[in-house]
Amino acid sequence: MPGQAHPALETLDARTRMVMRQLAGRGIRDQRVLAAMRWVPREWFLPPHLAAEAYSDAPLPIGNGQTISQPYVVALMTHELTPRRSDRILEIGTGSGYQTAVLSRLVPSGKIFTIERLPDLLVEAEERFRRLGLTNVETKLADGAQGWPEQAPFDGIIVAAAAPRIPGPLVTQLAPGGRLVIPIGDLSAQELVILERPTNGGAVQQRGAGGVRFVPLISRLAFTDEL
Ligand code: SAH
Repeated sequence: MPGQAHPALETLDARTRMVMRQLAGRGIRDQRVLAAMRWVPREWFLPPHLAAEAYSDAPLPIGNGQTISQPYVVALMTHELTPRRSDRILEIGTGSGYQTAVLSRLVPSGKIFTIERLPDLLVEAEERFRRLGLTNVETKLADGAQGWPEQAPFDGIIVAAAAPRIPGPLVTQLAPGGRLVIPIGDLSAQELVILERPTNGGAVQQRGAGGVRFVPLISRLAFTDEL
């Protein structure tokens, strides 16, 4: 937020290097995404013994068998989502809350609705949002494959866990002009899929944005193909 002191000045150089080498150096040109990732201290989202690895080019374990995504993958997914300043975004798989914090910076007059199924991870993430002073984040402990019907529709939906198919409720909850970014596949091979609902009421458009590797989306929902 303008005028606000940076929360972790001592690691600003490490973040700047991460942004230059891992993100801009690999083709991420979106200045808003780069600025948000230069602001969020990734070490705050890791278990203390891994803080020294915070700016390495890798996903890292965050407990409960889950991982914080590699910075490049966070940047790529955020760029594909194209959040505008006042958008309402649904995120599935809060995990550490790192991706949430990056998104929160990008929608200062909008809101992030984030869903996690593991209570321990959600409690820790909520504490980080408080510490960072993020006031536009709403959390929910639930199965995110069902979406968040009470808050729908969303201008963007981002899923940080891989599903075998696109969960139908998420497509339904996407506003006209909205985008859904989700890794689709099994444990061995996944593709980042971008789905867009046209503003003119036409059919939903789908494209691939390259190979990725995520932990599985765990859901009791029988996945339905609505495309
Ligand atoms: N974006 C996160 C990455 C989290 S890894 C970060 O930046 O740290 C994926 C997360 O999705 C895990 O925390 C996992 O518990 C959660 N998850 C898996 N299935 C889910 C479901 N059906 N609903 C909500 N969260 C789910």
